[in-house]
Amino acid sequence: MMIELTGLSKRYKQQVVLDQANASFTEPQKIYALIGPSGSGKSTLFNILFGLDNDYQGHYQLLGHNAAELTKKQWAIIREQEMRMVFQDYKLLENLTVYDNLHLSGDYSDQQIETVLATMKLTQFKTAIVADLSGGQKQRLAIARAVIAKPKILLLDEPTGNLDQENIEMTMTYLDQLRQQGIMILIITHDPQVAEFADVVYQLQDQQLILTKGSRPEEAPDDVSREIISATPTTIPPAAKKHLFSYTWTNLRHTKRRLFFLAIPIIIIISAFILSFTAFRASSTLSFKNSFGGISERAITLNTQDLNRKTHARYRKEGIVSSFDGKRIGFSQADLTAARKLTGVASVTPFNPGGVNLYDSHQNTLKLTYLAAEFDPLIQRYQRLNNKLDEITFEFNMSSTPQRVIRDFNEANIDLVAGNYPHDRSDEILIPDVLVLQKYHTTDLRQVLRKSITLNVRKNRQTKKHHYRIAGVYNTDYAHGLSAKYPIYVGYAAEDEKTVYLDKETYQFYRDLLTEDEATAAVSQSLIASYTQYEQAVGTGYQGMLIVAAHDTDVPQLTKQLQTKYPAYKITSQEDLRHGELGAIYQRLIWNLIGGSVAIALIAGVLICFLNKSYINGRSRELAILYSLGYQRKDIFQVIALENGLLFGAYFLISCGICALLNRFLLSKLSSARLFIYLFAPENIGALFLLVVMMLLISILWGISGVKQKNLKYYLNH
Ligand code: ADP
Ligand code: MG
Repeated sequence: MMIELTGLSKRYKQQVVLDQANASFTEPQKIYALIGPSGSGKSTLFNILFGLDNDYQGHYQLLGHNAAELTKKQWAIIREQEMRMVFQDYKLLENLTVYDNLHLSGDYSDQQIETVLATMKLTQFKTAIVADLSGGQKQRLAIARAVIAKPKILLLDEPTGNLDQENIEMTMTYLDQLRQQGIMILIITHDPQVAEFADVVYQLQDQQLILTKGSRPEEAPDDVSREIISATPTTIPPAAKKHLFSYTWTNLRHTKRRLFFLAIPIIIIISAFILSFTAFRASSTLSFKNSFGGISERAITLNTQDLNRKTHARYRKEGIVSSFDGKRIGFSQADLTAARKLTGVASVTPFNPGGVNLYDSHQNTLKLTYLAAEFDPLIQRYQRLNNKLDEITFEFNMSSTPQRVIRDFNEANIDLVAGNYPHDRSDEILIPDVLVLQKYHTTDLRQVLRKSITLNVRKNRQTKKHHYRIAGVYNTDYAHGLSAKYPIYVGYAAEDEKTVYLDKETYQFYRDLLTEDEATAAVSQSLIASYTQYEQAVGTGYQGMLIVAAHDTDVPQLTKQLQTKYPAYKITSQEDLRHGELGAIYQRLIWNLIGGSVAIALIAGVLICFLNKSYINGRSRELAILYSLGYQRKDIFQVIALENGLLFGAYFLISCGICALLNRFLLSKLSSARLFIYLFAPENIGALFLLVVMMLLISILWGISGVKQKNLKYYLNH
């Protein structure tokens, strides 16, 4: 038995459309017509028959199964193989060819396609785009797409409504042929010609199905074989293979024009995202990291003017305005000796944090200037690519730590690339790679090592020549951005730092400064109460202490010991950068970066979906067509994922290309060029890729939410 409806009722809220209707559409080789005025419920009935609407009362028996008990998957297979629908507006894939519409509607051989094309007189239109066909041709294609599956049941909604007389007759001829092949045909119609031509006619009237032509099978009790058929439900075959990739690819190829225009704003959004992410990342984390690059795994530094967060919080609360802890201005000899005695300490060196001396051990200063016209050709090229400079100046900078510990701590974060650091109190110098290029016109940095160089230096307002030796060369990354000023590092020369403090005027200065208010005066009492106490507080005059541990592994326990001894100071080390107070700041920075980028990616994803809204709606309509052809929801999800994946892959690659071009011809010439140095670093591209994948996921979810059962029905009915 094909279709049996018993006591079928359907209501939309208060409105009753069907009330206890009964009908049987049971015999192959028959054409059934369903007539009734507009609004009487014909389409509603078809939606129920086609499994698009399960919200009804009564019994619907389909191919021996209770239709209400069929699973979604079984429905999909039934729509694919047993029951096909020809929609009034055809619901073809309009952008694709006639061949593609048939090929993608199921798993059919080219031979089957050729045959059905010939039967429907469409052979000559095989490669035509559906949108270009006439109404009659579209309808023939819609019928061809339905019957190629060799279904048992064919539903047609107003097949002649949009056709001229010639095409109506042609259609009826085809339907007659199909009837003879044993397909049961059910037609919604207004057309008296069609009703005339049908074997059985039901009229929808007063919420009932009234038989107006032909006979109910029940009225033919001699039909015994029919009862036997009805007793055995048709077994539902497995689903046919779907051409998901082929469909996605064909569809993308045919909509490339439209996609091209849609892609422009999306690519702009993604490119802007790539550049801003790169710049934001560079300006926050990289600079943070770089400023701690000069400290080794074994080194720990303390600074009497660098108080930890807890102390800052206490000072804020108590209204204390001081950068000292109230115990010392500089580290004393006793402090240094005590630190040397801590377990696991290899060396302790006082230093002057942030102090930059612009002279060498003879008090000579240097101002070596090259004008733009004298630049080496390579520098000229880089300056054209990067920022324009009128001149480049080189001047002396003294290392702030002695050579013996400089590998553990160089405050200036020098990136030594050849040779060595200058010895203390020597005439050795460490020069930037850009000076090697400018003066020796070579990029082979080893060539200049140990070379003697004569510089015009100044001392006591007099210019003289002095010979130096090049001990090493450091990296400046000049290819990525030139500076107007570069240091030439000279050897460390210890000075008596105390002398800076130990005179009455400086004492008076600190006295005034640290007694401005009561709270500050109270905490600073022991620093300034008397000159003798002040002298003691100044100690060696060094505000920095560099402690080098014997092994990396000593750093954590040394940090603990130092925290006990100096509870108010920040203790800086690579260890701290990872786990301590700095680490916390760094982690927060990273989380802000991740959180911010994810938020922006989500917003961008939603924005992209909005831009694509009309496209996605159009796609949902098409996917509804696939659904009506027996594609399961999982097939449709795969199509959406595949299509979005391909598109986003392309968007990302194109955006990267655009960013590369922008960087090459524009960004690298700006003064902020350094922000984009790491644009194509693997971890940057990796992070960006993940963020774009997030945008992709949003787009996929958005697309999938558009193919809810309800929406699919909506698209199929409109
Ligand atoms: P026909 O196809 O015979 O013209 P329909 O089946 O489309 O009629 O509609 C039957 C009745 O049900 C109409 O009065 C229509 O307004 C109503 N109707 C159809 N679809 C819906 C719906 N989704 N929600 C509420 N009422 C509906
Ligand atoms: Mg209708």
